[in-house]
Amino acid sequence: MKIAVLPGDGIGTEIVAEAVKVLKALDLSFEMESAPVGGAAYEAAGHPLPESTLKLAQSADAVLFGAVGDWKYDKLERALRPEQAILGLRKSLGLFANFRPAICYPQLTHASSLKPELVAGLDILIIRELTGDIYFGQPRGRRESPDGAFAGAPEAFDTMRYSRPEIERIAHVAFQAARKRGKRVTSVDKANVLETFQFWKDVVTEVHAQYPDVELDHMYVDNAAMQLVKAPKKFDVIVTGNMFGDILSDEAAMLTGSIGMLPSASLNAQNKGLYEPSHGSAPDIAGKGIANPLATVLSAAMMLRFSLNQPEAAARIEAAVQAVLEAGYRTADIHSDGTTKVGTKEMGDAVVAHLKTQG
Ligand code: NAD
Repeated sequence: MKIAVLPGDGIGTEIVAEAVKVLKALDLSFEMESAPVGGAAYEAAGHPLPESTLKLAQSADAVLFGAVGDWKYDKLERALRPEQAILGLRKSLGLFANFRPAICYPQLTHASSLKPELVAGLDILIIRELTGDIYFGQPRGRRESPDGAFAGAPEAFDTMRYSRPEIERIAHVAFQAARKRGKRVTSVDKANVLETFQFWKDVVTEVHAQYPDVELDHMYVDNAAMQLVKAPKKFDVIVTGNMFGDILSDEAAMLTGSIGMLPSASLNAQNKGLYEPSHGSAPDIAGKGIANPLATVLSAAMMLRFSLNQPEAAARIEAAVQAVLEAGYRTADIHSDGTTKVGTKEMGDAVVAHLKTQG
């Protein structure tokens, strides 16, 4: 089993180090190889996704990714910005399905911005399509300004686009995932305004005919955003496009207390995947040793389950995380009175210690 380890920027290096420590404590035989990505790769090799990093990711069975980005790269041309590395990896590995579970651990209900009774026991799965939509549609750009200046252009535009196969394959993924959970799918669209999303709704409805055991409902994205804070537990699986999924999954993340707790998986048709926390590189806390590594540790567990066929090892990590929370360990983002405040490294050490004491 070969894992490409791409820590990236900001807190990426700190949190990935803890996930690697946890993986090593499992005593499974992994080959792990690291490479720079994002701003770190731009500094080292002049490109956020150098050929050598891409080759490593392509040759591995799975990619463990930290986070990329820093405000200092905002002035770079778009193709050289750190975030382009993620788009490049998604594209070259064919990653089209982004799984973002939003689970509210019983020990953390108080950390949610919602009342505890609204989030206690919350367990929803957001499945975001990753390859289409307005993020990739062509044409895009700025209309030429009279004097040819980029910044002075009179207008800019992007194109929203989805193909039938793109919608069909993500709909199948969502219905199949729902079969293993609460058997309910909510497809989120904006069919009342956007032709692309009327098409999305039509195609999802067609695919649903093959899954009579799964319940399907449709919801406009503005209502979904509202329902997520009003009654989040009424959802089971949410499937949506690239942009709506980007926004709703961050909203759902906050319901659980901290974005620092939420893992994610991006899979291709062969279940090869890229596993990363749902959050970014958090430049505001980078280098301080206070970032929560649990989202990355839980992403490593998803990697074991989905791509490396090691469900028992995945369950061991998840149980160790639960045990650590139960024992009262908290990083600053989830800390409250009566619990023990720890840094990134101490949190990783606590997970490893619990793994070693498991029977
Ligand atoms: P962010 O997720 O990095 O941070 C948002 C807030 O959450 C910050 O206050 C941060 O301190 C906090 N936070 C995030 N992760 C945390 C953790 N593990 N523990 C404790 N607190 C945590 O989002 P942002 O500030 O909007 O973006 C920062 C940079 O990250 C930008 O350059 C952005 O483009 C990039 N980004 C990268 C990814 C990715 O690599 N997949 C995703 C989102 C944003």
